[in-house]
Amino acid sequence: MSIALEHVNYIYSPGTAYEKRALNDISLEIGQGQFVGIIGHTGSGKSTLIQHLNGLMKATSGDILYDGQSIYAEGYDMRKLRSQVGLVFQYPEHQLFEVDVISDVCFGPKNQGLSEEESEKNAREALELVGFPEKYYKQSPFELSGGQKRRVAIAGVLAMKPKVLILDEPMAGLDPSGREEMLTLLSKLYEERQISIVLVSHNMDDVAKYADRILVMNEGELVLDGVPKKVFHYQDELEQIGLGVPQMTHLIHRLEKETGCRLGDAITLEEGLPLIEQWWHAKGTSR
Ligand code: ADP
Repeated sequence: MSIALEHVNYIYSPGTAYEKRALNDISLEIGQGQFVGIIGHTGSGKSTLIQHLNGLMKATSGDILYDGQSIYAEGYDMRKLRSQVGLVFQYPEHQLFEVDVISDVCFGPKNQGLSEEESEKNAREALELVGFPEKYYKQSPFELSGGQKRRVAIAGVLAMKPKVLILDEPMAGLDPSGREEMLTLLSKLYEERQISIVLVSHNMDDVAKYADRILVMNEGELVLDGVPKKVFHYQDELEQIGLGVPQMTHLIHRLEKETGCRLGDAITLEEGLPLIEQWWHAKGTSR
């Protein structure tokens, strides 16, 4: 699986007073087995970008290749693309509409043309994967808690067996334990099911911990693209565009500035603590 964007531009309402360039010459490639975090200030183009990845929005210019084939070529099977590149919107539970949970999750596979039995089989697998209890399969989705609704909505996308799962702020509005459960689910999908994940998030600590690559968007441009440690090294640049760094990175940078010592790069608690311990120890012995 690979999705490649080549010089993609997107302009909303071109030629009108509301004209807005939301994507400016974006080129990037997302491959199999990646966990990509997308960060950027509100309005930087993240939602517009992810809706291009499954062909929901069409670039004003430029090309998008899925497994080497242009998705804009005549006769391209968009339905297949949409099932392989699963998109989970912000507050996906707002899109639940069927009478019961299982029917809702069956909607996608049925739409793909699968039989009733196959659809139900995929739906059950997906619900199991997201940890949704079987005893509630016949319940109306509207009677569920917020976190459970969201699981059902994600199962609806997983039931189509996507190779990539793109999620726009999936932790938004969840309490701390709901957030943690969602992140655990995503890393399980990534590690056990080899589903590539593209996660749009405001939370730098979450992306630092889970993503192996980070894309930074600013005013429609891709300004940084690299492994988390490299990206968060640019603390000043990120702050200039209204973004922070993980708490541990912030702490280490502050210690370095105040003491003039070089501690090293860390983006998570697990990485940072040994560096601080080492520094503390060296400080003690040099006294
Ligand atoms: P993000 O997801 O990073 O918040 P968006 O992709 O939603 O950013 O928006 C990128 C830019 O496009 C913003 O300036 C936003 O105001 C503008 N925009 C988004 N949707 C529309 C629309 N339907 N019509 C006009 N402009 C839009």
